[in-house]
Order: sequence, then C-alpha cells, then structure tokens
Amino acid sequence: MKYVGRFAPSPSGPLHLGSVVAACASYVDAQAHGGRWLIRMEDLDTPRMMPGAAEFILNQLDSLGMRTQDPILYQSERLCHYQSAFDRLLSLNAVYPCGCTRREIADSALRLQGSLPEGERPYPGTCRQGLPEGRQALSWRLRVPEGIWRFRDRWLGPMEQDVARAVGDFVLKRADGIWAYQLAVVVDDAAQGVTHIVRGQDLLSSTARQQQLATLLGYEVPEVLHVPLVMDANGLKLSKQNHANPVDLTRPLETLQNAWVALGFEKPNVKNTQDFWVEATRVWVQRLSRANLHVIN
Ligand code: GLU
Repeated sequence: MKYVGRFAPSPSGPLHLGSVVAACASYVDAQAHGGRWLIRMEDLDTPRMMPGAAEFILNQLDSLGMRTQDPILYQSERLCHYQSAFDRLLSLNAVYPCGCTRREIADSALRLQGSLPEGERPYPGTCRQGLPEGRQALSWRLRVPEGIWRFRDRWLGPMEQDVARAVGDFVLKRADGIWAYQLAVVVDDAAQGVTHIVRGQDLLSSTARQQQLATLLGYEVPEVLHVPLVMDANGLKLSKQNHANPVDLTRPLETLQNAWVALGFEKPNVKNTQDFWVEATRVWVQRLSRANLHVIN
C-alpha cells in the first residue's frame, strides 16, 4: 500500500507539547503503515513567522527521532502553484472578489447561526453576486457548494458539516495578498501525494472545507485522523499564541512519553527514543485494528 503522511508545522514559534502530540501521531501512523513521512513548513503567514523557528522545529523533530528522507517543503517557495490552482478555480467561476471588512462580517454574523470555534464567523455572502457599488476587492472567496459534507475520521468516526451555513464562502486569498492556509494546504497535500493526514483536532473544523476544495480542483481526498488537543491547567488548548512552553530538548524520551500519554496510551517502559518508536508503533497498530478504525495492510 502506498502511504504518504506529513507533519506541517507553522514556524511561528518552537514546537510545544500539543504540536509534538500531532507530530508524534502522524509519524507513528506512517511507521505503522510502512509509509513515507514528509515535513512541510507552512511559512506563508509572514507577519506571524518567527525568525529561526523553522530550523529550531527541524532540530526538535530530529532530537525526538522524527526524521524524513524527503526534502523539506517550504510553502513560501510555492506561491506560483497556489496562483495556478486559484486561476483554475477562477476559470470555473468558483471564486469571487469580496470587499467586506472583518467588522462588517462580524456584525452580520450576529444574526446568523454557526458552529465554528470562537473567532470564526460565517460569511453572509454579501459579495457573492458581485462587489457592491463603490467597493474594492479586498479578499477572494470560494463559492461554497450547498449541502452537508460528510467524511469519516479514522479516530473520531463519521463527521459532517454544512460548510455553506457554518462557514460560508471562505477566503482563499487574504486582503493582505497572502494565500490562505486552506488553499495552500490542499494544493500541497495533492502536490506531495499525501494519502493520510494526521493532525490535531483544532483543524477538524477545516476538514470539510479542504475536502470540498480538493474535490473542486480534481484532487484525490486524503484520509484524515484528528488527535485530541493538549489543554493547559486553565483548560485552554496549548498554542503558540498562549505562549506554551517549547518542548525540552534535553529530555527527548520524556517528551515523547508525555505526548504518548496525552494521546491516551500508557507510558511505555523503554530506555531510549529508538525503542520508544518501536513500542509506540506496535501499540498504535493494535489500537487501530482493535477499534476497527482502520485496517493496516
Ligand atoms: N500548519 C498548520 C498548523 O500548524 C497545520 C496544517 C495541517 O496539518 O493541515 O496548525
């Protein structure tokens, strides 16, 4: 079986335990399938990038024993590919320019129902039929198809989202000219031949959007598995924005064990990181086949 997995960190800061959990799950899933595992630096959002973070992250992954034979892909070097995907959508009349400000969208969203994480507001479709008089294009949005989008998550089971109602037409090119994460991730997963996406549950609400976009672009839709998020003492998701501590590189085995426990497994009794990966892969295969979430070939 051809398996290609990936870990796609944003170099806006070093990895914290939450991101190590996602990296660990994607790495172990690739090992369990005897597949390839890629690293992709999602460095498009230049205002949020931290100088040196990409190298630091690669160093962290290396000391945790997560290594790849494949070249690292940097999204900042792939702008022309996002442009050609966008042009294709344009030729399909699947995108349109939008002149709304964030404020306007937030105001109209108060009248609409949504099931998105805080901070995400459904777009009410103001510019769908054309820019209102005197408005300038700020961003570009996808014309989201109507209806419920269904998919199966290998960890969570059957999932569904009415993207048109819950999210609305979403942004592919931002007002600051930067390609949106949703477009770049879909273009790159297809370009890299990714068959299996394993990542944190914070991205679960993006999955339906990404699958719709992939389908419109004629790409194969990868399998998905979303692992639980690590919370801090206040019940908030560990994140770079919340200044979560970078993982301690002087104790790689302990870090891996903590990540493994956060995934809901027992702490493996092993002496080094190499043995950790052997044991973790064995347990992962067992868990997946027992839960009948996925058949390992
Ligand atoms: N770059 C995204 C992040 O760090 C992850 C993208 C993905 O796995 O799809 O949150």
